[in-house]
Amino acid sequence: MQTDIIIVGQGISGTFLSYYLQKAGVSFIVIDEANPNTASKAAAGLISPVTGRRIVKTWMIDELMSFAKLAYAEIGKKLGVDFFSETNIIDFFATPQMRQAFLQRLDEDKQFLELPDDENSWRSHFNYDFGFGKIEPVYLVSIAKLIAAFRKKLLDQNFLLEDYFDIQQLVLSENKVQYKDIIAEKIVFCDGVESFQNPYFKNLPFAPNKGEALLVEIKDIPDDLIYKKGINLVPLGNHLFWVGSSYEWQFQDDQPTETFRKRTELILLDWLKAPFKIMEHFASVRPATLERRPFVGFHPLNKCVGILNGMGTKGCSLAPYFASQLVENMVHQIPIDAGADINRFEKTLSKSAIF
Ligand SMILES: Cc1cc2nc3c(=O)[nH]c(=O)nc-3n(C[C@H](O)[C@H](O)[C@H](O)COP(=O)(O)OP(=O)(O)OC[C@H]3O[C@@H](n4cnc5c(N)ncnc54)[C@H](O)[C@@H]3O)c2cc1C
Repeated sequence: MQTDIIIVGQGISGTFLSYYLQKAGVSFIVIDEANPNTASKAAAGLISPVTGRRIVKTWMIDELMSFAKLAYAEIGKKLGVDFFSETNIIDFFATPQMRQAFLQRLDEDKQFLELPDDENSWRSHFNYDFGFGKIEPVYLVSIAKLIAAFRKKLLDQNFLLEDYFDIQQLVLSENKVQYKDIIAEKIVFCDGVESFQNPYFKNLPFAPNKGEALLVEIKDIPDDLIYKKGINLVPLGNHLFWVGSSYEWQFQDDQPTETFRKRTELILLDWLKAPFKIMEHFASVRPATLERRPFVGFHPLNKCVGILNGMGTKGCSLAPYFASQLVENMVHQIPIDAGADINRFEKTLSKSAIF
């Protein structure tokens, strides 16, 4: 079989890469094993304009949010399903310091932050001592549904091989790649945490980060807003909420832990006035990077081998934007944003003695 591009992985990165390649008229085949535990399947699907304890503006957020809004509308229209909504975060301050940080940011920049007229308005639903603020707008993507719907389309079109990609069977030459009976011009790895072991890219400064979350039924709170107090309650419809998550740099494996479940249950008991029921508990590892920027582009020693990875905690906004940039780069030689282009690690990558 002959094709232009082999894509390894159909998380949010591989999904958008195949979407933009198809749009550009470039042929491809996606190889993805059906792993239920991937980062994309565990994600809440939040795109927030601010981040961290100091509530600073997220990197490139103005460009990323406007791009994401169009990208999800477009892919949703193509698949006939709406995966995207716009909402707010009600940010309950867990400590006086958090309230102070919010007020300080509000003083500096009012673009996404607001204080309520009435600080008591959520008293019948939540316990809180230090008031709350509002973050808006925030986007919410039904990421697992999007990936499942896109997968079905790829399967229907014979563009997806449901299989484990065995890197030992990849053969590279100067201007083509071969994997088993597939011959292509290029291969792009969108394989999430698997890239940490990839002989071509393992020297990149990855920093895997584990996250756990619960699926919880809460009948008595409005399910069109996101609520935050240390953890996030993200509405999924039908009174179900994604509740999480943890950010662990040191961990034994990618499995859910009793510690997280108990800790989160205690937080909910303390915070919610309504009863709740834990329905599921899941965990995965984020393909994060030391400098919190993605890895996009082609290997300096062999331009046939590329990567779209390192989306960290922000795959929902970074993946569509940088998948589109990578396709523009392949088709029209338009440079990739310098903060994301793997060329910034040219020296490190040139040490891989594998070509
Ligand atoms: C608990 C949690 C909550 C999160 N919440 C958010 C959020 O609210 N908003 C946000 O923007 N981001 C969030 N993230 C981060 C987000 O999930 C990631 O940034 C994003 O999903 C990474 O997508 P990816 O496609 O690069 O990798 P992945 O989703 O890991 O996809 C990689 C794909 O490659 C396949 N694959 C790998 N190796 C092979 C192989 N050898 N053969 C075949 N197939 C292979 C896997 O099966 C998988 O389908 C969260 C992450 C976690 C863990």
